[in-house]
Amino acid sequence: MKKYSMKYREISKGIIDGSFPLLKKRLIIVREFKIFNFEYVAVVFPFLFFALIGIHTKCRKFSLNDIIYLFAHEFAHFEILIKMNFFEKIVFGFKWLFFKKWKSWFERSCDLLVIERGYGEGLLKFANSIEKEKSNEELKKRNNKGYLSSKEIKYYIQKFKNRKA
Ligand SMILES: [Zn+2]
Repeated sequence: MKKYSMKYREISKGIIDGSFPLLKKRLIIVREFKIFNFEYVAVVFPFLFFALIGIHTKCRKFSLNDIIYLFAHEFAHFEILIKMNFFEKIVFGFKWLFFKKWKSWFERSCDLLVIERGYGEGLLKFANSIEKEKSNEELKKRNNKGYLSSKEIKYYIQKFKNRKA
């Protein structure tokens, strides 16, 4: 466990330094976890002054590309929350808890931010491998939860590129 937590800490540091400068001064604790049948492979628990990021032991077999995307996605969650003021956080927390629509908005916003920060190709690879192994129904559910499909990712990569040009 320790070996992997250390590896993840190193990877996450590189991503923060390169793409999420707002998080540089924040305390971010990265830990590997093992919970049988847990829905997510990576999670972020944002607290007032720090964040805890958990990476499932399942991820040991993931490629470096996928690990990088997972971290970038979790950091995006944290950054979006940090940018909200106290009042907005309370309101959003409430909406997130009770409305599926807002959970899905949050996931989608994170994937979009990840593309904006230059991890679009990595996200596309990740989505492609998921689309290969899951059924259409599972993919539809995933999309409803806010995660972008490979088609959408390609569209947004292009869109952000054009915006920069
Ligand atoms: Zn997420």
